Amino acid sequence: MKILLKNGSLKGEKNVDLVIENDKIKKIGPANSLIEENAEVIDLSGLIILPGLVDLHTHLREPGREDAETIATGSAAAARGGFTAVHAMANTLPVADTAGVVEQVWNLGKNVGLVDVYPIGAVTVGLKGEKLAELSAMADSNARVRIFSDDGFCVSDPVLMRRALEYVKAFDGVIAQHAQDPRLTENAQMNESELSGKLGLIGWPAIAEEAIVARDVLLTEHVKSKLHICHASTAGTVEILRWAKDKKVNVTAEVTPHHLFLNQTSCESYNANFKVNPPLRTSKDVEELRKALAQGIIDVVATDHAPHPIEDKEGEWQSAAFGMTGLETALSVVATAMIDTKLMNWADIARVMSERPAEIGQLADHGRPIAENEIANLCIVDPEMTWKVDAQDTHSLSTNNPFHEMTLKSKVIHTIFRGKFTMKSGQVQK
Ligand SMILES: [Zn+2]
Repeated sequence: MKILLKNGSLKGEKNVDLVIENDKIKKIGPANSLIEENAEVIDLSGLIILPGLVDLHTHLREPGREDAETIATGSAAAARGGFTAVHAMANTLPVADTAGVVEQVWNLGKNVGLVDVYPIGAVTVGLKGEKLAELSAMADSNARVRIFSDDGFCVSDPVLMRRALEYVKAFDGVIAQHAQDPRLTENAQMNESELSGKLGLIGWPAIAEEAIVARDVLLTEHVKSKLHICHASTAGTVEILRWAKDKKVNVTAEVTPHHLFLNQTSCESYNANFKVNPPLRTSKDVEELRKALAQGIIDVVATDHAPHPIEDKEGEWQSAAFGMTGLETALSVVATAMIDTKLMNWADIARVMSERPAEIGQLADHGRPIAENEIANLCIVDPEMTWKVDAQDTHSLSTNNPFHEMTLKSKVIHTIFRGKFTMKSGQVQK
């Protein structure tokens, strides 16, 4: 099985031909220079070749909430979004807090075979924040877990957080913190601001995030471990991260596409598809998050793809679930926020959506240079296409996409996973 890709632009820098044989990139040459017998030839004129995208933060919902998403439907949505690897969050039913559950997720992902699914292990048993889960058993399992998170909940007890950070050092693991002080956010519904008062929704202050980020940066420095901050959402968090990186604390951070693109004014619609944790913030926060991503203060983009069935999103704002889907729109949203505004170029997109996430997840076959003998994991993008999002047009089982009816610039056209098309010309190859 051979593929010859003709005249594609390598990260927007130079045009090349590229031959894929079995699961590897066999040959790269100048544009329109290569000929290959018995190969499927695909013309990539006008398209950008990126390394396959890597998501550090995906909710696949299986096991337990197969009405919202399954590993099969989530993998198809990922392939459509240009992803070749996703990390599955631990807040499933049962919780992924044992070697048995993480191996189950790992095996389900392998059987679907559209994308590599790397399970994230829970930090505490049942995400209850009371006692540490079997971290080393998950690290030693076939799933080789390296990232641990209670995402959905904050590890708010400082002693437990310290112990977790100390514990994962033995196998070079990282704790991914969902930074949310629980007491400061009781019943909170949207960003605390004048607008939350006007809308009559309980406010979620920026400091509820920032206080935990600051504490955990200090704990991480104290015990010399590794910390990753999930979905950074405020300008204050950026300031703390800047300080921490200046001091060479081993902390990395992610921002979601929606926090780079949307702000709290969307909540004026009372459309619960804009209800998310952490909440959409102010336009000033959005501006600071964009700058921080461009400067490397925030390392990566992660989707926080959080599918919910309609019944969990309809009805009143207060009773609706938190979360948005995002795998299929991530690249387009980030390109619209960062490339159209000239804050970043395509090589930067490769860095924040593939190379750095793969480093943080310690993935051998992803986020690699696009070079001969590397595994062929690729995401191929039309940078000029503008398109309107239709939330119903999705491979996800859920339709809670906040970008519905918005116009975005650029679109993933093909995805190649371990040498095979998982999406070709916009069609997922199931
Ligand atoms: Zn979270």
